[in-house]
Amino acid sequence: MDINIAKAAEIIQTAKHLIALTGAGVSTESGIPDFRSKGGLWDVYDPAEYATIHAFHETPEKVWEMTFAMREITKNAKPNQGHRALAELEKLGILKCIITQNIDNLHQEAGSRCVIEYHGNASRLECLKCGKKYGREEYAANIEKKTPPRCKKCDSILKLSVIYFGEMIPHEAVARSQEAAQKADAVMVIGTSAVVYPAAGIPLIAKQHDAVIIEFNTEETGLTGYATDIFVHGKTGTTLPELLRQIKSS
Ligand code: NAD
Ligand code: ZN
Repeated sequence: MDINIAKAAEIIQTAKHLIALTGAGVSTESGIPDFRSKGGLWDVYDPAEYATIHAFHETPEKVWEMTFAMREITKNAKPNQGHRALAELEKLGILKCIITQNIDNLHQEAGSRCVIEYHGNASRLECLKCGKKYGREEYAANIEKKTPPRCKKCDSILKLSVIYFGEMIPHEAVARSQEAAQKADAVMVIGTSAVVYPAAGIPLIAKQHDAVIIEFNTEETGLTGYATDIFVHGKTGTTLPELLRQIKSS
C-alpha cells in the first residue's frame, strides 16, 4: 500500500475545511471510460468533434448518436468503493464538499450530499429554445429506442444538461467552487488529468491560499511536482477506502 496514504490521512484528519475535486478517473472502476482510455469510445467519437456546443447547434442528431453509444456502455454503472468512501468522509463531517467534473451522477447515488456539478449532469435534459427542463426518466423510452428526445412545448431536440466544449460553466458552480477553494485548507484532487480549465484551476486557487494539495491518481499529471504536496498512487477504488480505514482506526 502506498505509504503516502498515511501522510494523507494525517493531514485530512486535522483539516478544518477539506474539499475534493474529482474527475473521470473516480468512475473508471464503475465501467465508465475516461478520455484517456485507448481503444475506447472516445477514439470513435472524438469529444472535440462530438461534445461541442457548436456540434449540437449544427447537428444535434450526431451529438445524440454519441450519447446513445455512451449510454450503452454506462447504463448499468453503479457507484464504486471510491465514491462510497468519499460519501462516508462527508458523513463523518471531514469532507465538506465535492466539486466534480463528472456528469454521471455517481457521487450523488453513493450518498454524497454537497456536490458541485461543474460540468452539469447527464440525468437531466433541457430545451435550448424555450428553456424547459426535464428529468431523464421522462425520456427513458426515447433513449431506449435511440431517438433524439424532443421538447413537449416547442418540439426542438433536447440537450442533455451537461456542459459541452464551448459552453460557459454555470455561474453558480464557478462561484461556489471559488469560495470553497479559497476557504479550503486541504484539497483532494482525485482521478483528474487536471487539464480542462477552469476546473483545473481550483487546486491552484486553494494552493495560493496555503491549502495542502493531495492527489490521488494512477499516473502523474500536470499538477504533480508543481502544485501537489502528497501524491497517492493507485486506483481510487482501493486508495480511498484505505484512506477512510486509516482515518477511522486512528
Ligand atoms: P481525464 O479522462 O482527462 O483524466 C482521467 C484521470 O484519471 C487520468 O489522470 C487518469 O490517470 C486517472 N485515472 C483513471 N482511472 C483511475 C483510477 N481508477 N484511479 C485513479 N485515477 C484514475 O478526465 P478529467 O480530468 O475528468 O477530464 C475529462 C472531462 O471529460 C471532464 O470535463 C468530464 O466532464 C468529462 N468526462 C466525464 C466522465 C464521467 O462523467 N464519468 C467520463 C469521461 C469524461
Ligand atoms: Zn422547448
